[in-house]
Amino acid sequence: MKLYDEVIARTNGILQNYEAKSLQVGCEKWTDVGKAKMILRSEMAYELGGEKLPAIGCTIVTTSTELVPQDEIILIGPDISEIKQDQPYARITFVRTDESAMGQGDELYNAIHRIEYFRYHVFPEGFMMRVSAASERECVRVGSEAIDKGLDFTKIGNFMIDALHVHKDVQAVKVIFVTLPEADYEGLRENQRMTKKITDTIDHMLKDVNMDCHSCSLQEVCEEVEGMRELHFGISKNF
Ligand code: SF4
Repeated sequence: MKLYDEVIARTNGILQNYEAKSLQVGCEKWTDVGKAKMILRSEMAYELGGEKLPAIGCTIVTTSTELVPQDEIILIGPDISEIKQDQPYARITFVRTDESAMGQGDELYNAIHRIEYFRYHVFPEGFMMRVSAASERECVRVGSEAIDKGLDFTKIGNFMIDALHVHKDVQAVKVIFVTLPEADYEGLRENQRMTKKITDTIDHMLKDVNMDCHSCSLQEVCEEVEGMRELHFGISKNF
């Protein structure tokens, strides 16, 4: 399944312009609070992506071992303890899955969604993710006490990797955190939008049996993304 591979390549193209630090995979476990736990303003050190700052959260699925060879955590910018005030933020996660497990049609759509929804089920202590699907923002309130206890992106990255490996078809995960103030968040936002457009197009294909590309409002996505048309015509055979 190569539907998102071009978006991954474009994201890598943007990120290669910055110094990246590779963080340790397989560190000691960080506390899981098990459910959404509010961090009050008085308890927080700062917000990643707070107020009007860029706040990007994007999960992209691939089956390419070249794009995601193994579990990996990358940090571009300062780590949690080095940040002193609200900061722009991006969390980009590439997830490699088993090709045969992705299926076709609604099976494929559901598999993509299950993986994307992992962010609603991770509750690391002192790291409150606030996701707004409507405004396509993912910001994070970081607790002062957790920083004192040693919270960093190594622990959060490992936490996310473990959460994604709960899905039996996930083979490898690359988590990238960007906190560098001058990074190209607009470019990353554009790729986030394209990822959503591709997923929405798959959804449209399932709901709408219109097969006329000339009158279809999704032509632009299908022209840009390799494999989209084949997917639709493949799906239609299964109706
Ligand atoms: S393949 Fe054609 S009909 Fe199907 S979603 Fe794409 S443009 Fe529309």
